Amino acid sequence: MSNLLHKIAIENGYNSHPKGTYVCIEGPQFSTRAESNVYRSLGFDIIGMTAIPEAKLAREAEICYSTIATVTDYDVWHEEDVTMETIIGNVVKNEKAVRTIIRQALESLDIEQDCECRHALDGAIMTDPEMIPYETKYRLKTLIGKYID
Ligand SMILES: [Zn+2]
Repeated sequence: MSNLLHKIAIENGYNSHPKGTYVCIEGPQFSTRAESNVYRSLGFDIIGMTAIPEAKLAREAEICYSTIATVTDYDVWHEEDVTMETIIGNVVKNEKAVRTIIRQALESLDIEQDCECRHALDGAIMTDPEMIPYETKYRLKTLIGKYID
């Protein structure tokens, strides 16, 4: 899915990076200058406050997932102070790009296409299915039924 989103972004003339490492920080807050420099020194490309829970949950549910991480500022390692005016201004500028990318991605997604996301839990469940109570199997059937039946 990331490849598709990146391709659409490029085709529409947007600056896009197909890969990057995201650090999720507790929000809402701005990094201190020291925190910002630590994140950079550890090799993180982008800082956010929201994308981790859904990414991990989607993986566990074997759902294809990709983040469109639009940049609002360089964080304080690069600039003097990050202001809400800068952030909001860039959010508004990025909104059109995000809407375009999502609309075109939805038009061209092949939901029948297989990918590794749909097999993320292959070999991950170590409990013997015979030991899993019926009620638990029933409750988890939608997510992991193919592994515990
Ligand atoms: Zn996938």
